[in-house]
Amino acid sequence: MAKEPDSAPARLRVDLAGQVAVVTGASQGIGRAIAETLAANGAVVALVARSAAKLAEVAAAIRAAGGRAEEFPCDVSKGEAVTAVVEGVVARLGRIDILVNNAGVTRDTLLPRMSDEEWDEVLSTNLRGPFLFMRAVSRPMMQQRYGRIVNVASVSGLIGNPGQANYSASKAGLVGLTRTVAKELAGRKITVNAVAPGFIASEMTAALGPVLLDEVKKRVPAKRLGEAWEIAEAVLFLVAPSSGYLTAQVVTVDGGLIG
Ligand code: NAP
Repeated sequence: MAKEPDSAPARLRVDLAGQVAVVTGASQGIGRAIAETLAANGAVVALVARSAAKLAEVAAAIRAAGGRAEEFPCDVSKGEAVTAVVEGVVARLGRIDILVNNAGVTRDTLLPRMSDEEWDEVLSTNLRGPFLFMRAVSRPMMQQRYGRIVNVASVSGLIGNPGQANYSASKAGLVGLTRTVAKELAGRKITVNAVAPGFIASEMTAALGPVLLDEVKKRVPAKRLGEAWEIAEAVLFLVAPSSGYLTAQVVTVDGGLIG
């Protein structure tokens, strides 16, 4: 299960029994914590990422904890694969109530050195992927007149970050996409929000190395990195049935970094 600090506070509880959630990038890090949290609150979770082996491990952990999860291996940037996953989830699990677009990649380098491939890979995973998934789930959600969509953005998309022209553009685009789709779907009782994490302990930030991470901790008012489960708690709040009037928002979870 997701790592918690020694003095872990009581976790939020939401009744998601009978609901089906699709979580992308669920094979590790923040996505895994989100999947485990939604399952722990009663949702059946469809786990999406490219690595089938890692998804099987996450599904086993969720089942061992008493939850329900099924694996749907898929590259989120591929249109036909996304359509097949959404059709497969509806066929096998009956409905889709919650979509969390969390899959994301970084290919950091300064602008003059950034290749076309580095630009395209980040944009197609971080922005095209959420577009494809939202378009695909919009039909079943509109038919059932209920839905909760959360897109995992980043503070980099809100304030920019040197070395991340591709990544911050993808996350800023995701914020615009979130706000627009929220306005299109609000009348069908579907909410669409974004969570913008600051620096969260995961493989993505471990790649920065210990020296840079120490610098980051000094800059964050909370003086620590966030934990994956702390992002999952914000997502859980946004997908609660009682959050129906909360839409088109970006919830920043960053220890005060950009406050
Ligand atoms: P991570 O540990 O690198 O995990 C990324 C996840 O995305 C993995 O499950 C990966 O699985 C999946 N993924 C990547 N490309 C994919 C593709 N084309 N199709 C399907 N799945 C794909 O990253 P993380 O730190 O947990 O980050 C999760 C999200 O939070 C990302 O959107 C990231 O931008 C955002 N975020 C993270 C931080 C942070 O500090 N960690 C801060 C701000 C925002 P496979 O490799 O198996 O496909």
